[in-house]
Amino acid sequence: MMRSSQRNVTALLLLLMTCLASCGVNRPALHKTTRLLMGTFVEVTVAGKRQVAREAANAAIAEMGRVEKLTSFHTPGSVVSKINAAAGTQTVSTGNEVLGLIQRSLGFAQATDGAFDPTIGPLSSLWGFSAGEPRLPSADQIRDRLGKTGWKRVQIQDQPPTVFLPEKGMALDLGAIAKGHALDRGAQVLRSRGVSGGLINAGGDVVAVGQKGAKSPWKVGVRDPRTMNAIVAVIELRDRAVVTSGDYERTFEHDGKRYHHILDPRTGYPARLAQSVTVVAPNATIADALATAVFVLGPGKGLALVEETDDVEALIMDHSGNLHLSTGAKRLFDVPGTRRETDGVPSGQ
Ligand code: AMP
Ligand code: MG
Repeated sequence: MMRSSQRNVTALLLLLMTCLASCGVNRPALHKTTRLLMGTFVEVTVAGKRQVAREAANAAIAEMGRVEKLTSFHTPGSVVSKINAAAGTQTVSTGNEVLGLIQRSLGFAQATDGAFDPTIGPLSSLWGFSAGEPRLPSADQIRDRLGKTGWKRVQIQDQPPTVFLPEKGMALDLGAIAKGHALDRGAQVLRSRGVSGGLINAGGDVVAVGQKGAKSPWKVGVRDPRTMNAIVAVIELRDRAVVTSGDYERTFEHDGKRYHHILDPRTGYPARLAQSVTVVAPNATIADALATAVFVLGPGKGLALVEETDDVEALIMDHSGNLHLSTGAKRLFDVPGTRRETDGVPSGQ
């Protein structure tokens, strides 16, 4: 038998526990750190104790900054810039990390029959989407630069790791895959610090480490390519990456026509078959490369590629605004019948 004072204490404890649960005090707190990196705001969310979470987030950001310095197309000292500056004259030592990324890029080029092409550099700089003011080039300029592309011409060697571009004016541009690699490296830093719930969101390209709470996954919204602050779908993530390539990211209009940064390497002009492509994959490097590749390939060939690739799903908004989902994506994405309005999308949570 319980005495009344014991009963009171028990009741008080129960009340306190209920309050703690409902107030969320026994859930790990989420800490956000934001930094401008890779041309976008990178937000790192880490669950756990404040000091540990902050330090882990800062270490992840430093690691992503390191990757950006190695791979940037515009930073003069980067390995990629050195390769480009030496085109037609010299072989360049790359180190294993950059060589690995170039090899993976060439693998995607082969798998997509050149729709993904890391030698798109001469055209990227002609259009000027990544630096300075973008502009509509002349047809002659495009033809000339097309002659300086071609992924099959890249000469690589494993030991020691070197790359050679055989013609002056050729240039590598890893912009379609390097952000994914940076996200994966950042996620790896979080894991190595024991983080069990983390999310890195680089302007809507997202990698999840574990999940948000014991029973709750991370939830990420897929942006509507034509309506700011609206989402077309939501996906739950645990230890996976979701990356979107969209024609709204870097864009300008000329004579009522939209021009954007994802180029079709066959024509030298912006790819026209999609408005946005979202890819879910085991890591952000694959998701990033495939989002760009499927964007160029369009819904037909793009979905075929996704269906034949293990553990990868895609959601495509085609040029007319129709949604196409790969078989597995139909289970993964929650696509509301009507488009949902939210504030601040794509959102990390
Ligand atoms: P993303 O935003 O990941 O789709 O990457 C687009 C960026 O990749 C552009 O800003 C260019 O730097 C580069 N790029 C554009 N078109 C292609 C392409 N067809 N294949 C590979 N990289 C590309
Ligand atoms: Mg990409």
